[in-house]
Amino acid sequence: MNNGLKGQSHHVADIKMFPTFVRSLPDGSENGEFLALDLGGTNFRVLLVRLQGHEIDIQSKTYLIPQRIMLGTGTQLFDHIADCIGKFVSEHDLLNHSLPLGFTFSFPCQQEGLAKARLSKWTKGFRCEGVVGEDICELLQEALKRRTNCKVEIVAVVNDAVGTLMSAAHVDRNCEIGLILGTGCNACYMEYLDNVGTWKHDDEKDHHPRQVIINTEWGAFGDNGCLEFTRTEYDRELDTFSINPGKQVMEKMISGMYMGEIVRLVLERLANEGLLFRSVDHESALFERGRFYTKYVSEIESDTDEFFRHTKQVLDELQVENYTTEDCKIVKYVCTLISARAAFLAAAGLATLINRLNKQDMTIAVDGSLYRFHPRFHNLMCLKIKELVKPGLKFKLSLSHDGSGKGAALTAAVSLRLRSLKPLPTDSSQHSLTTQETVSVRA
Ligand code: ADP
Ligand code: MG
Repeated sequence: MNNGLKGQSHHVADIKMFPTFVRSLPDGSENGEFLALDLGGTNFRVLLVRLQGHEIDIQSKTYLIPQRIMLGTGTQLFDHIADCIGKFVSEHDLLNHSLPLGFTFSFPCQQEGLAKARLSKWTKGFRCEGVVGEDICELLQEALKRRTNCKVEIVAVVNDAVGTLMSAAHVDRNCEIGLILGTGCNACYMEYLDNVGTWKHDDEKDHHPRQVIINTEWGAFGDNGCLEFTRTEYDRELDTFSINPGKQVMEKMISGMYMGEIVRLVLERLANEGLLFRSVDHESALFERGRFYTKYVSEIESDTDEFFRHTKQVLDELQVENYTTEDCKIVKYVCTLISARAAFLAAAGLATLINRLNKQDMTIAVDGSLYRFHPRFHNLMCLKIKELVKPGLKFKLSLSHDGSGKGAALTAAVSLRLRSLKPLPTDSSQHSLTTQETVSVRA
């Protein structure tokens, strides 16, 4: 993490620790009508968020991103997104409203302004041509111009971890860490600017607090080989058949996009070696990549008696026949090992952040289906964090709702509030990045 924060070592660090330009947590005074987008995993959503202090009204619609668009060109992707926004805005009778937009874009980005973010790399199954290195806000703003006539201005781009933190900090003053355990795995936290060697954007007359949210992008931990001592043959096989081999090593050991497949690879080997399912048919879906969903892990681990109701249901779905109770026990045991490993790795990362921030009481906002639905993930993480944090530091993991919608809107609102705190631009500061943004937003 220190390597990522330092100017000299940032380019070789595998945990990038990107500064986000989000300089303040919400204080409850955020108001207004915002659009939010959530892109970066299973679903794409457009949301209308109305904020009035602690009262929040959210309306949203989920749209599909077909596989051909996920693996197509950037233009196709952003045109598709703009079309969805256009439909949403006209369905909600908002065509004549000037709407600031908070964009939750959950891929690693090098941020150059609150509304300027260059994609570093695609992850989580996306691979659209011509986007890496480009400013995704500009691509979206251009697509909006091309495809719609709505008055939408992108004010902030955040990832889902930052959205989750912003959303939870709105109601909990102790919350300074955000964590995602969904399709991917990532974390962010509030850092002092003095520790951020890569921060080059300071303005002398800056009235912001001297802090910034850091998007760790810790899913890439291990990409430099430092986790090899603990990776298994199953991790390596999964990696070989992924669309980004060698990348996102820690994420692949933790997140929902991969966990089910790791379990499947272990079960496949046990079956092939005659240690499981004495007569398994090789036509069974157990032998097909991607067919063992991570939700199965949650279901199997929720079996608490010798009837193995959920485990049997999963095995039936996979067309495994003639299994015994002993087989069910083994299947469940494999799931518990792999989910515990994931929870412990995520806990190690969190404990590092908690120790770093060194505050008496820390709330960690968590979002994502893996955390939400897995029956033991929360407890396993708490157990391991307790072992790893400095004595006396208290912490709480708290499920955050709708981080990517509410959080993105709050970020947009906070940025508008902070801009209004700034002194009027003078000639000498005319060319600073922040001043230019102020002008464009007000216009
Ligand atoms: P995203 O991260 O894309 O915003 P989610 O938070 O819903 O979306 O996470 C999706 C991931 O969670 C998928 O990889 C899926 O396999 C996994 N998942 C979905 N349901 C469950 C479940 N019941 N238990 C564990 N993992 C789940
Ligand atoms: Mg999400």
